[in-house]
Amino acid sequence: MASMQRSENKDVVCSEELGIEPYMFEPNKGEDEESSDNSTQYSTTEEEELDDEFETADAWRISSLQWCKCGKCTIMKKAIESFCFHEKSLEYDEYDENLTAAQNQGLDCFTSLSSFQQNMLSKDVLEVVYFS
Ligand SMILES: [Zn+2]
Repeated sequence: MASMQRSENKDVVCSEELGIEPYMFEPNKGEDEESSDNSTQYSTTEEEELDDEFETADAWRISSLQWCKCGKCTIMKKAIESFCFHEKSLEYDEYDENLTAAQNQGLDCFTSLSSFQQNMLSKDVLEVVYFS
């Protein structure tokens, strides 16, 4: 009996040394939820850092309208909002198509297109985009 107790004690010491705890490798539903929360938080922080970098690098956009080629843009509070449609059209085909369509109608800015005003500037559409 005495020898058995000693070996039990030894086992306890041994597992403590290894850092093994009961149920350590059991699948845990709560743990999964926790880890997905963490990854969401992490990506948000990363995005915020990117935003900060962008705002610092393009801070000149909020003090000047040099970037605007259409003459309709205004100074915005954030650099990320301070892009002319003409700049975007160089980057994205979708914008380019809209710009070409606007120019074909003799408009200098695609925001003057009635389809843009109906779709992109509609309060309902903006709400859908904002909350999705
Ligand atoms: Zn512009």
